[in-house]
Amino acid sequence: MTEPCFCDSNKNFKQCCEPFLKGNKVAKTPKQLMRSRYTAYASGNQGEYLLATWAPESCEGLTAISLSDKTYDWIKLEIIDSSQKGNEGRVEFKAYYKTDNGLLNVLHEKSAFIRRDGRWFYVNGEVKIEP
Ligand SMILES: [Zn+2]
Repeated sequence: MTEPCFCDSNKNFKQCCEPFLKGNKVAKTPKQLMRSRYTAYASGNQGEYLLATWAPESCEGLTAISLSDKTYDWIKLEIIDSSQKGNEGRVEFKAYYKTDNGLLNVLHEKSAFIRRDGRWFYVNGEVKIEP
């Protein structure tokens, strides 16, 4: 059975983000990590993964439980740009979601990532919400 991945890669979930979420694979690029984190948000119940891929210095106050909550109905992911320079990475993307009152909003973010001991972590992002 095929199940399209949440991250709109046109790939099967099992071959796309699932191995990252299960810890069977480590993201090799900031873009891969970004996609898998979007998938974690979109599927819900993946707080452990979100926390594990968050740079410890910037996730203060967040818990796996709070991150497991499905905050919005995430509809679509669009990667606009991504780059990598040594152990630093950037990804610009638009994530579309439905608000509680059914409106379609866009979260436009420029995220920063860092690589430590071969693993990528999300550091922070510059976020704009566009209606
Ligand atoms: Zn995916």
